[in-house]
Amino acid sequence: MMSASLPPDSANPLINMKIYGHRWQEQYSLTSEEAAKSLASLGVNEVTLHNRLAPVGEQRFSRTGSIRQDQEFRQALHSIGIKTLEVLPVFFEPNYLSRYPDAAPLTADGTPAVIDDWYLGMCPTHPGRIAERAAMVDRLIETYEPDGIVLDWIRHPVFWERLTPSSPWPSDPPCCCTRCGGPTAPAERRCADITSAVDRLVGSRQRVSARDGVRHQTRIIANIVPFLHTPELTGQCLADLDEIVDGFSLMLYHQVLGREPLPWIEMVIAEALAQTSKPVSACLQVAPAYLGDSYRAEGRSPRISVEDHRASLLAVRRSGAHSLTLYHWEDYLAAEANNNLGLRWALADYRDSWQSTDTSPS
Ligand SMILES: [Zn+2]
Repeated sequence: MMSASLPPDSANPLINMKIYGHRWQEQYSLTSEEAAKSLASLGVNEVTLHNRLAPVGEQRFSRTGSIRQDQEFRQALHSIGIKTLEVLPVFFEPNYLSRYPDAAPLTADGTPAVIDDWYLGMCPTHPGRIAERAAMVDRLIETYEPDGIVLDWIRHPVFWERLTPSSPWPSDPPCCCTRCGGPTAPAERRCADITSAVDRLVGSRQRVSARDGVRHQTRIIANIVPFLHTPELTGQCLADLDEIVDGFSLMLYHQVLGREPLPWIEMVIAEALAQTSKPVSACLQVAPAYLGDSYRAEGRSPRISVEDHRASLLAVRRSGAHSLTLYHWEDYLAAEANNNLGLRWALADYRDSWQSTDTSPS
């Protein structure tokens, strides 16, 4: 299938903005049309959206409003040419144990994993969950007619945001239930678990196409954590997924992981590009995160300067990544509510940089 992504040498770069939650409505009181215009003014031509049909959860993000409101926003975005990707949380859902009491991952000694702050992973071979998520691909396409679906939390359970260089790495392997091959399952087995789940979800998209008698253009994107050299940890193997998905979104959250943006961002993008021929979107973190008391020992930087952000954008520009994704829109809304336009100008300069072939640091 041909990629719908713009080629990396395009003078009109693809810029995707993640929109998580509905604070743009609830706090900033924007209408759907105002929100779409505000995004377009940043040069955004694609968005990644949480939705009320397959919500990420009530703990962290609001669940007020209706699917009809979701649809109105999609219509406003499409009407001015902004493409939409819907997030499908696969092996994550707050409080899921009431729906899937046997889906908690098992640790190496056979006890169920326990929640860490907001995160409790899910066994990635649970047949009921995979079947339900496959049906949800169908419903997302019917309800929102998206340009793409982003498979999020599509991995073996690991709270990867905690894996800073100064934090201990998990001593237990991911889910050790018998279905997942027990505690000694090799990396290939972990990868096969995830590849198989993705294959099932992509198959659902194709069934929708066959039934409707039209070729849906819905792309399937896998959301990838930046630990490509340790697939035994996550089960995410880009080479295995290459033939199945239409692209990857690579979460390059340098401050969360306690890394300097350079050269780390370019190194991880290079690792990804070496493993796949499919489009890779480089997802940058805009504002600092994971600074609460329970994360203090991990020693993260409390800020991301505009200069750091500009350096990260330049790294993406130089890297050969096919597109840019920004996590997330609320950070731009908050900055501009404080008359801070630094992020906006940095993004404008990134767009301008595509008009020339010179990517040397200025
Ligand atoms: Zn398992």
